[in-house]
Amino acid sequence: MKKANASETLVTESLSVRDSKHLWHPLTQHKLHPEMLGIVKAKGAVLYDENGKEYIDGIASWYTSAYGHCNEYITDKVYAQMQKLDQVVFSGFTHEPAVRLSEELIKLLPENQEKLFFSDNGSTATEIGIKMALQYHFNQGRERKTMLAFEEGFHGDTFGAMSVSGLSVYNGPFEEFFIDVERIDVPTDENIEEILSDLETRLQQNHIAGFIYEPLVQGAAAMKMHKAENLNRILKLLKKHGVLTIADEVMTGFGKTGKPFASDYIETKPDIICMSKALTAGLIPMAVTSCSQEIYDAFYSDDLAKGLFHGHTYTGNPLACTAALAGLELLQSEEIQNSIKRVISSHQEFDSRIKNHEKVARTRQCGIIYALDLNVKMERYGNLRDQIFKHFMNNGVFLRPLGSTIYISAPYVITDEQLQKIYTTIEDLLNSI
Ligand SMILES: *Cc1c(COP(=O)(O)O)cnc(C)c1O
Repeated sequence: MKKANASETLVTESLSVRDSKHLWHPLTQHKLHPEMLGIVKAKGAVLYDENGKEYIDGIASWYTSAYGHCNEYITDKVYAQMQKLDQVVFSGFTHEPAVRLSEELIKLLPENQEKLFFSDNGSTATEIGIKMALQYHFNQGRERKTMLAFEEGFHGDTFGAMSVSGLSVYNGPFEEFFIDVERIDVPTDENIEEILSDLETRLQQNHIAGFIYEPLVQGAAAMKMHKAENLNRILKLLKKHGVLTIADEVMTGFGKTGKPFASDYIETKPDIICMSKALTAGLIPMAVTSCSQEIYDAFYSDDLAKGLFHGHTYTGNPLACTAALAGLELLQSEEIQNSIKRVISSHQEFDSRIKNHEKVARTRQCGIIYALDLNVKMERYGNLRDQIFKHFMNNGVFLRPLGSTIYISAPYVITDEQLQKIYTTIEDLLNSI
């Protein structure tokens, strides 16, 4: 022990100061951004900092807390589960929360999904999806070793996930270690024919194992949106050529688009779906990679080596499964469904109010996700971005602009009053820059 008496430290120094001694934060250049804000409490759509200031959580803490923070319906169930079974190896054992979650989630997923593989976060969910696609072909003796992905996609920070992600800010130092990936443009009405004819040529080589994509909304690319019909045409073509399709619904899943999954808007169903973030309602980290029977069958064999030898220590944690189950119940409740509709129409009203503002370049919405691009030139991690972030925080609103894009993806339980506060804070910003 280096130092005794932690409680003494507590009264003399802020969380922010104590934090800076030993902690290294995600997606942070500490020299440029040394200060972390100490958060002591969260309830519903509100975060409370250590000085007692409140912030409306306009992005549901990276899209996780869909039903509000510290939702008692969920915490009560997890607390009860804690008294019964906390953790057990999921290789060779099973338990009620996992089995029930599989039964309930399969009912909600697109019809072709049959099997669930559990892991811990969005990156592992996509990593597993990629491994499923590569090994699916390998097990059948096919030479398909390349993945296909959208430009500007984001699928996580582990190596496979990084390889298929197109955002170079995160990837730079690692690019030479990546798996083979080819990219295609995100479809628009203008480029779709060209994308399809170019793909048709490339697919003649039979080298592509799988295509990973964020359906309808590319989150990290600043909530870039594309049409279901155009995506559907790409998926249909890929299926015809034996390419597995992997929908990364880590961000879009569990009601954000207005339906349980973005894939529900698209006629061609994916072979594999990756889920995390709102899966466990912001309570406990967990992820699921689901797949069709056909994928599972390609691993089912008398040959041990044809199995999927991937596993994480906390796979299928009973508490996480319980949180996920409670979340699924809430998602399907009338109350939450009504809340989702309310937020959607509230955003629509806000949009008609500001879309013609001179500082707004364009706006877009998909379900409860709303985004606007400022008509101002700025860098993704630049100074102006930081000033805008400060404007929001000073006004008690937690929004994280992505470059010149401001987006809202709040908990469904956000009140009308809280929504209006977010809107007016954005409008104040538009009128002051
Ligand atoms: C957040 C995200 C991931 C990565 O999830 P982590 O839990 O942060 O590893 C992957 N894909 C998409 C679309 C995401 O939004």
